[in-house]
Amino acid sequence: MQSVNPYTESIVEEYDEHDEEDVEAALSRAAETFEEWRATSLTERRGLLTDAADVLREREEKYAELMTEEMGKPITEARSEVQKCAWVCDYYAEHAAEHLQEKTVQGPEDAETYVRYDPLGPILAVMPWNFPLWQVFRFAAPHLTSGNVGLLKHASNVPGCAKAIEEVFRDAGYPEGVFQSLLVGSDLVEEIIEDDRVRAVTLTGSGPAGRSVAEQAGKNLKKSVLELGGSDPHIVLDDAPIAEAAETGARARTINSGQSCIAAKRFIVHDAVYDEFVDRFVSEMEALQMGDPKDEDTDVGPQAREDLMEELHEQVEDSVEMGAEVRLGGEPEDGEGYFYPPTVLTDVPRDSPAGCEELFGPVASVFRVESEAEAVELANDSQYGLGGSVWTTNLERGKGVAARVESGAVFVNELTKSDPRLPFGGVKDSGYGRELGVEGIHEFVNRKTVFVQ
Ligand code: NAP
Repeated sequence: MQSVNPYTESIVEEYDEHDEEDVEAALSRAAETFEEWRATSLTERRGLLTDAADVLREREEKYAELMTEEMGKPITEARSEVQKCAWVCDYYAEHAAEHLQEKTVQGPEDAETYVRYDPLGPILAVMPWNFPLWQVFRFAAPHLTSGNVGLLKHASNVPGCAKAIEEVFRDAGYPEGVFQSLLVGSDLVEEIIEDDRVRAVTLTGSGPAGRSVAEQAGKNLKKSVLELGGSDPHIVLDDAPIAEAAETGARARTINSGQSCIAAKRFIVHDAVYDEFVDRFVSEMEALQMGDPKDEDTDVGPQAREDLMEELHEQVEDSVEMGAEVRLGGEPEDGEGYFYPPTVLTDVPRDSPAGCEELFGPVASVFRVESEAEAVELANDSQYGLGGSVWTTNLERGKGVAARVESGAVFVNELTKSDPRLPFGGVKDSGYGRELGVEGIHEFVNRKTVFVQ
């Protein structure tokens, strides 16, 4: 397994892949450790999580640089990602007791009845490369703390990050076996899900990977959570604060060099403000600095892999062939590094790739609509339903639109972002289940009814 720096196109490091014997050893270690780990007190597990947060903060620069090297994340965003991982650890260290507290539920008058939250066992997490630390910590922080143990199958292009996360838990003092990284390709996922010792699976990634994991989980009657792709609408109504909508829109589209599931992807703009918005938005996108991801002034780094950049460009070319107009960008950069520039497409046909597929790079699709009703109709005309934002100076109107958009989250006058305190997840092809908040920690526990007569 190797990681390739997408800026220099050179190999960062090579790792030995785990074979079936290694996987078997990890599974049996996970099952054994689970029996001891579930018996530890919640106070002990919360203390270890606080220690993990400390390790992350101490090593912020080291882990930030590792992400930047392995997948090209601009360094300032990489540092923020490490801090956010520490935050999610702090959040569950502080709130797990309240989230997992037994809940009295009134049954028959003469019985004592309550619900308790018990761990399930070893849980497999199949994770993507785009937020290589955050996606894993938002899984591990709640679910290790509730008494489960974790097995990570990380994306094949970020093995260094997979090892680093294992190192954080080890150095924080977690018993060996509570969190293990399996350096395996996706071909081994099926048999790991089938293994009796694995009790549940979560996947963050693309639709095809999600369908495959859901199929295996279903066949084996195992609980699953899926966090998949998105094509979030960014709705600009006729009374929107245009400058903010354009400035935040450019950031929302290009965060992580455009490779975010909750990036704003479809800009749905009311006719009354269309020209003003598009002019401002194009200027904001044009002003972004593309370059060395280690440079603190860089806004947009390279795309994480060459094949992904090529796929993105094909989607742009096909959309242009179908009638979309290129207002900015639209061609990969020559020279070293997998650079795709901030790109704005207008007059996008709904059935073109830019209209109906996920564009996982810094390419914005802009649509003109005549009314609020048409904006909502277009926002919902998508296979996806992850996040979305609506821009208006009338907050009641914003809340009304939020109620009608079919997605797991809608932000009014703000870009869609994850927050340890708030549940995160999608509907439709964006997946099911929730991460973060109280809802997230309850996904992988046995909500056990106890009835005492
Ligand atoms: P991906 O190709 O689906 O890979 C994600 C993970 O799934 C990797 O570990 C990958 O392993 C594994 N995988 C791929 N095919 C599989 C299969 N058939 N069976 C089992 N595992 C399989 O996705 P990606 O390119 O890394 O990530 C980008 C996608 O993730 C985008 O669609 C994005 O929107 C989505 N995403 C969603 C969220 C969310 O919270 N909803 C967050 C981030 C990203 P290999 O690397 O070994 O192939």
